[in-house]
Amino acid sequence: MKQKSILHIGFDDTDSPKAMCTTYLAYKIVNSLKKQGAEFIDFPYLIRFNPNIPWKTRGNGAVAISLKTKNPEKIKKIVKTLVTKYSDTKGGANPGLVFYEKDDVEKKFSKFSELALWKLISRNDAKRFASKNHVESLHLGNGQGMVGAIGAIGYCFHDHTYETLTYRKKSHFGKKRLIDKESVRKMQEKTFPSTFNSYDNKKNRILISPHGQDPVFYGIRGESPNAVTSASLLIRTKEKPDGFMTFKTNQGTSDHLKNEIDVQTFEPYTSGTITGIISKKPSMKQGKHVIFSIKTNNKQILCAVYRPTKITSVAMELKIGDKIQVGGGVRRASKKHQRILNVEFIKVLNLHSEYKLVNPYCMNCQKRMKSKGKNQGFECKKCGKKSKNKVIQNIKRRLQPKLYLPAVSAHRHLTRPIQRIGVLNKKSNFDSKLRWFDVF
Ligand SMILES: [Zn+2]
Repeated sequence: MKQKSILHIGFDDTDSPKAMCTTYLAYKIVNSLKKQGAEFIDFPYLIRFNPNIPWKTRGNGAVAISLKTKNPEKIKKIVKTLVTKYSDTKGGANPGLVFYEKDDVEKKFSKFSELALWKLISRNDAKRFASKNHVESLHLGNGQGMVGAIGAIGYCFHDHTYETLTYRKKSHFGKKRLIDKESVRKMQEKTFPSTFNSYDNKKNRILISPHGQDPVFYGIRGESPNAVTSASLLIRTKEKPDGFMTFKTNQGTSDHLKNEIDVQTFEPYTSGTITGIISKKPSMKQGKHVIFSIKTNNKQILCAVYRPTKITSVAMELKIGDKIQVGGGVRRASKKHQRILNVEFIKVLNLHSEYKLVNPYCMNCQKRMKSKGKNQGFECKKCGKKSKNKVIQNIKRRLQPKLYLPAVSAHRHLTRPIQRIGVLNKKSNFDSKLRWFDVF
C-alpha cells in the first residue's frame, strides 16, 4: 500500500478589490479535497501579514492548508486548477501558490514568514526563496502572492485566534447583505469574550460583515474553534448561506508589532513599536488628525494619529517630556510630508510632571490669598493670615499611564483587542471530529 505523505499548500493574492476572496478559494479547495478523501491535519490557516505595505490586497491575508494524502500529485493538480479558475487575475490579482511536501516545515520558512509580518518583502525575494529551496510553485500576474504563500506555510504561531467565515451562495454575490442586527448583538452579549469584535455597541453597528462584492457573508472571531463555530450559527440572515469554514489565524494578536522599529533607518513600510519622549507638541491638522514628534536615540520621529482611531483626543493631551510607546507602520515620504509613523496604539509610560506657581492657599478660609504688591508677600483677605511666597501646584493631566487602543470600529485584522492583552492561545485544538467545515 502506498504511504501517506504530508502536503502543505500555501496561496495568496487571489482576490482583487472588486471580487473574490482568498479564503473563499480555500473553502472551495477544502470542499474538493474532502471529496478526494484528503485527511486534514490542522485547521486552514488564515495569516495576516504586514498591513503597512502599499500593495496589500484588502487585508493582506494568505491561506495555508496541511493534509495527509496517498496521492499528492492528484491533490496538487486539483488545487492548481481551482487557483487558476477562482483567482481574479483580470481584476488585478497576482496569485502565488506553493506546495511543500515534508512532515515538518523547515525553519527558513518561519524566518521568511516572520519577516513578512513586519517588513517589506519583494516578490523577487519570494521567487528566489522558492527556487533556492526547491519549492514547487505556481504564480500568475506578477506573482506578488508568492510572499504570503510561502509565509502562510511557514507561520509559527506564538498566539492564535479563530475565525469562522460563512459564505454566500453565488446567486447572492454583489447583492446587499441582510443580517439581523439584533441576532448579532445578542450573540456577542452571550459569547463575549470567547468571541470578539462582532458588534459595536457605541455605534449600534455590526462588525462581522464586509461591504464589498466578495463571497464572505460574515465572519465571527474568537478564542476557540467551538466558540466561533457555534456563535456563527446564532446569526440570523434573510438569505440562506452556502456554508462555512473555521480558520486558525493570527488575527487579534498584534504580532506585526512585536519588533522595535529601527529609528536610524526608519524604513518605509516597516511595522513595529517605538519608545520615546514627546519632543514636539501635538497639533491638530486638517481632517482632524493629530501630528506630534517623539525623540529616541537622538532621532526625532514624526507620528500621525488619524481621526477614525478615536484616539486623537488622547494624542492631543500629550505634553513635551511624556514618555510613550507607539505602535504602527512607517509611511513613506511624499511631496507633502516626510516619513511618518502611522500610529495604531499609544501606551503612556510616564507622564511628565508640570508645575505652575500660584498664590498660597488659606486652609482656614479655603481661599487663595491675595498679593500685597510686588515683593510684599500674600495675605488672606478674610482672616488676615500671611504668607511670603507663591506655592508650586501640579498641573492635572487628563491622561493616565496606560494603553490607549483605537475604537473597535477602527481595529485592523491584527489589532489585539483590549480584553486579549496578556491572553495567549498556545495549544492548538484540532480534532478532525470538530465541525469546522460545512456546506449547507
Ligand atoms: Zn483666611
